[in-house]
Amino acid sequence: MSEPLPPEQPDLARQARQHLASLKSAGIEFLPFAKQAAPPPATPPAAPAPAPRVATPPVSVPAPPKPAPTSEPAVIAATALFNEPAIAAATEEVLSPDQRRQELTVLAERVKSCTRCDELVANRSRTVFGVGPISPDLCFIGEAPGMDEDRKGEPFVGAAGQLLNRIIAACGLKREEVYIANICKCRPPQNRTPLPPEAANCREYLDRQLELVKPKFICTLGACATQNLLQTRIGIMKLRGSWQEYRGIPVMCTLHPSYLLHVPEAKKDVWDDMKKLLQRMGRPIPGQK
Ligand code: SF4
Repeated sequence: MSEPLPPEQPDLARQARQHLASLKSAGIEFLPFAKQAAPPPATPPAAPAPAPRVATPPVSVPAPPKPAPTSEPAVIAATALFNEPAIAAATEEVLSPDQRRQELTVLAERVKSCTRCDELVANRSRTVFGVGPISPDLCFIGEAPGMDEDRKGEPFVGAAGQLLNRIIAACGLKREEVYIANICKCRPPQNRTPLPPEAANCREYLDRQLELVKPKFICTLGACATQNLLQTRIGIMKLRGSWQEYRGIPVMCTLHPSYLLHVPEAKKDVWDDMKKLLQRMGRPIPGQK
């Protein structure tokens, strides 16, 4: 059976005219004019249509590194305890002694304007950064400034500081030869121990300070300094007299001089610790043949 033939063109025109006439008689004067779309260009191919807007997860952009006290590279805050391998600084950095001194000054200025710890900022007269030469054989690290230190802007200048001076002298050293710093650079109210968040806030400064000072040996004074520097919760009575390590620097832990002011009989323990320290430093032990 054959396909029906399409109607002739004249029939189409006639049907269209009849349809328009019926529309006109119904009162319809105009018909919408549909503009014919232009044919797509042959070349180049049309750009793909934009994708429909749908909810997408936020683009993950890495956070910028935490602002450092100076323009120094980021510092890894971990320390090696019990002779674990030291963790190197994030970026190799070779500075001359003069550059390190300059950087240390910049760091101290930055610390001066630090407002990270509300309570300490409200309580301090000034920040107490640290004192001593760069590249010393020995650096003492204490807890935080007390009233006298807060007044003078120098660590260990009160009664505990006088005792530390005597310990340093007993070791055959001069105070000017050693570097002295604290875990926290601002005085806590009523000389309380710095809170963990305060020590954590100040850690960045301490790490950078030690990176610039480059002591050959460190001696921590008391539980707060020892536990914070070494990031451990082991008690000072267990740690004192033992060798630890901070970024490859040998650390001798001992008791805080202010403890010795209350418990003078513990001076012997500290002296034992100092003898170990001097021995490893290759220095003579005064009073010992
Ligand atoms: S203790 Fe350290 S971190 Fe806290 S306000 Fe003082 S300088 Fe800043």
